[in-house]
Amino acid sequence: MVRYINVRSKSRTEFIDITGMVQEAVKEEGVMKGICYLYVPHTTAGITINEGADPSVQRDIQNTLSKLIPHEMNYFHREGNADAHIKSTIVGTSVNVIIDEGRLLLGTWQAIFFCEFDGPRHRRIAVKFI
Ligand code: ZN
Repeated sequence: MVRYINVRSKSRTEFIDITGMVQEAVKEEGVMKGICYLYVPHTTAGITINEGADPSVQRDIQNTLSKLIPHEMNYFHREGNADAHIKSTIVGTSVNVIIDEGRLLLGTWQAIFFCEFDGPRHRRIAVKFI
């Protein structure tokens, strides 16, 4: 069975901490041990695991990606969101987290972030337990 976590981004670029929602899904499914596979079925968004304690880390990641991949450039893609497609490919669209004793096995400072690169939009993250 595949579950979905729904999020609504409010800006063009935004990281949304979904750790609590993922942990809630683990609890609801009663998974004690295994792998939580998270997949973003979008071409202009991504998912990553990084520091959740200090929000300036997320800002630094977003700002650095935007410097490396500017919004306006001589892109072939005419939809105006080529930068978002490139960021999605660089960041990636899936992560795996080990589940042990019913908990996501994350480091103290780690959080799971849905990465919006072409918002605001309604988005979803597929969750599969193995
Ligand atoms: Zn596009």
